[in-house]
Amino acid sequence: MSNAQTGKIGVTTENIFPIIKKFLYSDHEIFLRELISNAVDATQKLRTLASAGEFKGEIGDETIEVVLDSTTNTLTVRDHGLGMTREEVERYINQIALSGAEEFLAKFKDKDASIIGHFGLGFYSAFMVSDRVEIETKSWQEGIEPVHWSCEGEPTYTLEQGTRTERGTDIILHLSPDCKEFAEQNKIQDLLRKYCRFLPVPIACGFKTEWKDGKSVETTERNIINSEPPLWVKRPADLKEEDYLKFYRYLFPGQEDPLFHIHLNVDYPFNLTGILYFPKMKSNFDIQRNRIQLYCNQVFVTDSVEGVVPEFLTVLHGVIDSPDIPLNVSRSYLQSDANVRKISSHITKKVADRLEEIFKEDRKAYESKWEDLKLFVDYGSISNEKFWERAEKFALVRDVDGNFFTYEEYQKAVEEKQKNKDGKTVYLYTTDPEQQWGYIEEAKERGYSVLQMTGQLDAHVINFLEQKLTDVQFARVDADTLDRLIEKGEERKVALSEAEQNSLIGVMKGALGDRRSQFSVSLEDLGAEGLPAVVTQSEFMRRMRDMAQMSPQYNMFANFPEHINIVLNTAHPLVTKLSQTVMAALGTKLEDLAMREKPALDEEKAFEEKLGNRAPSDQTDEEKAEHKRIHEQLEVFTNERNELLNGYGATNALAQQLIDLALLSNNMLKGEALAKFVRRSAELLE
Ligand code: ADP
Ligand code: MG
Repeated sequence: MSNAQTGKIGVTTENIFPIIKKFLYSDHEIFLRELISNAVDATQKLRTLASAGEFKGEIGDETIEVVLDSTTNTLTVRDHGLGMTREEVERYINQIALSGAEEFLAKFKDKDASIIGHFGLGFYSAFMVSDRVEIETKSWQEGIEPVHWSCEGEPTYTLEQGTRTERGTDIILHLSPDCKEFAEQNKIQDLLRKYCRFLPVPIACGFKTEWKDGKSVETTERNIINSEPPLWVKRPADLKEEDYLKFYRYLFPGQEDPLFHIHLNVDYPFNLTGILYFPKMKSNFDIQRNRIQLYCNQVFVTDSVEGVVPEFLTVLHGVIDSPDIPLNVSRSYLQSDANVRKISSHITKKVADRLEEIFKEDRKAYESKWEDLKLFVDYGSISNEKFWERAEKFALVRDVDGNFFTYEEYQKAVEEKQKNKDGKTVYLYTTDPEQQWGYIEEAKERGYSVLQMTGQLDAHVINFLEQKLTDVQFARVDADTLDRLIEKGEERKVALSEAEQNSLIGVMKGALGDRRSQFSVSLEDLGAEGLPAVVTQSEFMRRMRDMAQMSPQYNMFANFPEHINIVLNTAHPLVTKLSQTVMAALGTKLEDLAMREKPALDEEKAFEEKLGNRAPSDQTDEEKAEHKRIHEQLEVFTNERNELLNGYGATNALAQQLIDLALLSNNMLKGEALAKFVRRSAELLE
């Protein structure tokens, strides 16, 4: 052919093709998105020319076709757009596109391979999957001959007169042997659905199928990929709730309907549209991440949006579309990008706006959705300061009777009754209303409120709120006796003498037997109407253990044994009775012991007076020896007393019964101990 021409693509890099081919092995399916985007661009440019009056012909059928031939291993992307002249091919394909690809590769060759696939390579990404690429194109301009371009993945190309008779462009890929899968109908249809289903020009691939005589056969109707319009580009005012629901079901078939949606629509200072849906979230387990799809001008880019939206928002579902998000850079760069930061805080704000709006407009409806929202709102509050500033006003807590409060409302509701002597308001809570039922009832009888903190994040929420709310302290309702949980500075004094108290504790320790090291015993006046004995578990230790289970940095607390305290209610007649029996049985022996012990005690007192408050390092060796002797002398009596009391407790049915009752009311009596309790109870009833 006379005007055929061969040339060398005008770049310096000889080895760009091998790089293109190799790079992004896993992600090289993006070539399809690039070629379709170009076809869409070409179609839209023709529309623009037509509306400007420059192009006066018929636009006709605009459908972009993807034609596959698995016998020749070719894939053709055919459009009816504006086409290219020979000069345009030279300029746009041979020079600009290639230098664009070259620049792109030079910049991102060394970067994380999972992200460089996001845009930028353009036309030349075709070489990731092809040994040879051809272009057959005919410009919209009248009297211009068609052009054929061909390139074998080397910097040389041929350019000659083409055969295309209609306006538009065919991009023909001769697939490499290792990329034959891209000639398969199903594969390409899937990819088109993934990347191109919201593009504004119809895209056809293959034909629709129907069931005939028990098998699926092709019809003559073209299979159009993008049948559903992208709802987010429409104006919210033109859409009904039903439209949003329908769109959600289209995006996420088989998912439970969402709670509500947010339509994002910004054009200054950046461009962003999208629809985010709140899924129902009962627990961590059913949180589906990676359900926000990121688009760039309606072309799918990715469904992992970390870096673009704050972490806590990744549990939302929906679409975000922005030409302003730099897609071909690393995630760490994304996070520092000013545009991305603005987008991120805008989305956060919009989400908060929407929640606040629902909260204000229909509190009852909001409360009824709270169980599904709680995890999200709490997680957002803890992890994102800006969100917390807003959520503070619409986050709720729920008491055990099902009443909802904002933090401010709750403080008002309980501060009068639950403020302790230090001016802190104590928020009582339960992690298990059934297990802690007795404690809850008792608290309610006193007019206290108990919060339900049974959620998965609640241990964190409690720590977080203690930092954020002023003068608020949380206490699990069974962490101690109510008098101690909310100290008013007016506790009732235990009516027993010190000797009686020590004796009681000694007897109880004896009754505990082998379990002694795990338990402590204390005495308190809980009122005559209270239970004779209750079990409490230190708030601090329990929280540490809980933390250890959640985060490894607290690991050292994980192996702390569970420590349980038994509080004997000295105002209860059974405890008084126990004390009296102990004194009746052991009184004389204890008095005798005390008499024998007295000289040793006097000696200790005199010695301590002599020492004053000198530290052991300032004592002479004689003094140290003296100290040791006195100590050992006293230890003999202590041991004797303990033996006496423990021995008595070990066989005292009432003491044992009191311990078991306390454990039982906390659902902690198990196995052999439970069996013994039952037998003993039967005996006592005889
Ligand atoms: P970009 O799309 O970012 O401009 P590409 O490498 O994808 O970069 O394409 C380079 C250029 O080649 C386009 O700008 C366009 O001018 C031209 N081009 C590519 N594909 C087509 C097509 N199907 N129809 C018309 N022109 C095209
Ligand atoms: Mg392009």
